[in-house]
Amino acid sequence: MSSFRKAKIVSLGLNLPMQKNLLLKTSTNPLYVLVLFWLNFSQMANSQNIVTMLSRKQVENKNILEMLYKDSAYVQKKRLVNTLFAHTSPGQWGEFVKGVDEELVTQKKIIAFTFDACGNKSNKYNNELIDYLRKEKIPATLFVSGAWIDDNYNTFLELSRDTLFEIENHGLNHQPCSVNGESEYGIKGTPNVPDAFDEIEANERKIELLTGRRPLFYRSATAFTDEACARIAKLLNVTIVSFDILSGDAMPFAPAQSIVNNVIKNAKPGAIVIMHFNHPEWFACDAMMGIIPSFRKKGYTFTRLKDYPLKSR
Ligand SMILES: [Zn+2]
Repeated sequence: MSSFRKAKIVSLGLNLPMQKNLLLKTSTNPLYVLVLFWLNFSQMANSQNIVTMLSRKQVENKNILEMLYKDSAYVQKKRLVNTLFAHTSPGQWGEFVKGVDEELVTQKKIIAFTFDACGNKSNKYNNELIDYLRKEKIPATLFVSGAWIDDNYNTFLELSRDTLFEIENHGLNHQPCSVNGESEYGIKGTPNVPDAFDEIEANERKIELLTGRRPLFYRSATAFTDEACARIAKLLNVTIVSFDILSGDAMPFAPAQSIVNNVIKNAKPGAIVIMHFNHPEWFACDAMMGIIPSFRKKGYTFTRLKDYPLKSR
């Protein structure tokens, strides 16, 4: 792990430049920000105490909010975020809006492969793809929704224990993050600030409770989000990540060769590739078998997001 990421974890949200930024943009009252940092800190300590006491059922999506709403630190944090953002404009809606990161900060030939597990009706597991990554020792970032975890509980725990992978947040219910109910690809986004908060923070807590590690990154469902959500995530000490290279694995019946071409023709140092590992019927695995040897021949190596600082384009 780079010293950059270590410092970020250890800070537990006590990030002074971010604090200054918030004071300017979000609130004129520094008390709000200090209270939020304290809540971040106390919640972290609290979750470490109860991690071993939870049953699988308690953290299922249909139960977890009920549990979190009994946690005063969670409720206070939610109330505070709602107060800060209740009258904030959503700003732009898209995959590359202000506040979203899309690539690594590096000039080296390094690529980050990220794989989403969306959940709900898309709750399968591409075992063949994960096996290929393991066989070839390709580190990867896995963005996982709370809904997918519920349907793949044991697989999720097994993946979280594999140091080749980094588990990150793909939203509690796989709803695009919106403060006013935007939709994308027919998937309805969160309707307001409190629901946007739960979509991000409840899945942060769920993953942390199950693995002992709070995710550093959040990718909104469909990768679309608004600028207000990007600011909410930042306040929660989570970085919203989009992508640099759209592999196209989610295009209906996309053949492996078109995915290979999409990725290879757009390759550049620091690029973040988006693919999926919840659709074994798609051709992500066949495509990776074409992409990896080609990249290796060109001198590329592979990384997880947590090992590099990120930036927007
Ligand atoms: Zn998704």
